[in-house]
Amino acid sequence: RGTTPVPPESRPRLTVLSGPSGVGKSTVVAHMRKEHPEVWLSVSATTRKPRPGEKHGVQYFFVSDEEMDKLIANGELLEWAEFAGNRYGTPRGAVMERLESGEPVLLEIDLQGARLVRESMPEAQLVFLAPPSWGELVRRLTGRGTEPPEVIERRLAAAKVELAAESEFDVTLVNTSVEDVARELLALMDVV
Ligand code: 5GP
Repeated sequence: RGTTPVPPESRPRLTVLSGPSGVGKSTVVAHMRKEHPEVWLSVSATTRKPRPGEKHGVQYFFVSDEEMDKLIANGELLEWAEFAGNRYGTPRGAVMERLESGEPVLLEIDLQGARLVRESMPEAQLVFLAPPSWGELVRRLTGRGTEPPEVIERRLAAAKVELAAESEFDVTLVNTSVEDVARELLALMDVV
């Protein structure tokens, strides 16, 4: 009596943005960061080779297979997954530091990673980025039509499975406009 504990911070501080490949997650995040550079985004480690213009420590920490093995073995990753032949993982230390100081944290990761975060940190807020329609996703995945039909077929089959993951998420944002989704995401993170 008289020692009612202060209720824990009720706002979710860890937000995970995920969704099918090709839905535009990184475009949304890039737009959001341009408007709100103060929002901290976790930088993942990956074994993928840098694309032109990508810098070590900015888009990713580009690591060798051996370095990735070590990060995993030492428990330094909050989650990791294999995606299209490369491994990607979220460095645990930096995320925990931010969360402990009460700062909002954003992860932009694939669906397998989002599921792992759900298991290890049930209080995380999981946001699913959905395409405006199936037809729009087909259009985006088909791109310029330079890929052989069987590759496109495989990607579309994968996308169908990925879309079904929506029900596992707390919130769905439909990617009709990058500006709108970025704004909605900031509101969910309690930044604006
Ligand atoms: P890209 O190679 O196009 O940069 O990324 C490929 C996929 O990996 C994207 O869906 C992206 O969200 C995901 N990804 C990036 N970093 C991580 C991570 O740390 N963990 C997981 N599970 N997925 C990630």
